[in-house]
Amino acid sequence: MELHAAIRRALLTWYQREARDLPWRRTRDPYAVWVSEVMLQQTQIATVVPYYLRFLSAFPTVERLARAPLEQVLELWSGMGYYRRARNLHLAARQIMRHFDGRFPADYRAARALPGVGEYTARAVLSIAYNQPYAALEGNGARVTARLFALKGRVSERGFRLPAQQHLEALLARRRPGDFNQAVMELGQTICLPSTPHCGVCPLSHWCAARRLGAPASFPQPRPRRATERCHLAAAVILPPSIVKQSPGRRRRLTGDETVLLVKGLDEGLLNGLWNFPSAFGRSPAHAFARLRHRLAAFVSQPVDWLGGACRARQQLKHGITHRAIQVRLYQGRAAADSSESAQWFSLGDVEGAAVSQLARKIVRQIQGGRLGVGSA
Ligand code: SF4
Repeated sequence: MELHAAIRRALLTWYQREARDLPWRRTRDPYAVWVSEVMLQQTQIATVVPYYLRFLSAFPTVERLARAPLEQVLELWSGMGYYRRARNLHLAARQIMRHFDGRFPADYRAARALPGVGEYTARAVLSIAYNQPYAALEGNGARVTARLFALKGRVSERGFRLPAQQHLEALLARRRPGDFNQAVMELGQTICLPSTPHCGVCPLSHWCAARRLGAPASFPQPRPRRATERCHLAAAVILPPSIVKQSPGRRRRLTGDETVLLVKGLDEGLLNGLWNFPSAFGRSPAHAFARLRHRLAAFVSQPVDWLGGACRARQQLKHGITHRAIQVRLYQGRAAADSSESAQWFSLGDVEGAAVSQLARKIVRQIQGGRLGVGSA
């Protein structure tokens, strides 16, 4: 007990002195805390800050979020990735309006039952916003705990998580659970870093078992890396038809050369709900392009007039989505297409503010940088 009390005191004293001033730390509003916790899953703090501020300014309450169309929520999330988080947040906001009078539930089981609210998120929100004595174990806390107590195993293993959670529960400051959880995270984010822990300035170094063993970075055991899958993607930059009337020797251009066709989703169930350039994966560039033509047939009302002839990629770029390393080839053509729920014409200038994927943004930057001859077809 003495050991736990000493560690707890040192940690909280350090946190009080060193905690970074982050926007979500200036509030105890359960809604704002919840939004920040969801955003911080899988996204770096520096990236989250502007998104969090924009999101809270557009949707300052659960009610405003629940009333917003999903499209607008995705627009504000666009660029941060892992869009299921945004969809769940939106869905959960609607459930909170329906069942909890617009207030994030203070009951653990009720919170856990909301879409996208896992064990960690429920514990974090309840401890920070409602001062309930829950210890919240996430990646940073797991690392700190593993090192403090020289715990064996991988973070994902039950044999690791159980003792780690028990240690954290024993350390928990019951009167300041929110500060405690944030202090552990802060230590993991700023001092007890994955490969280069700064033990010399760590407030817990006196008690740290991994440091005593002389190998702090070897705790916890690293998880096996998922193999990167290399794949090909063909993406089409489709412009409207340039010819409305053809008379011998004379061609008339339609205006709107900067208008491009975007469709919902990428391919193979990825990035659903976000606008993308029509795309298809394949085993080879030729296979991807063949699949792209097949997919495009569902959106265009006439065969695509490919610039430079079919099968000639105008540009290549690399992109990563989770474990996929994607070699993207861009094809450019013109075709007519009716707008629908799943396909729409966008002016290039509007794409940035729309609910588009990171890949679509990358392609737009290629176009705007003049690396793709849009308008020259
Ligand atoms: S002493 Fe080093 S390894 Fe131990 S908790 Fe502090 S930074 Fe992490």
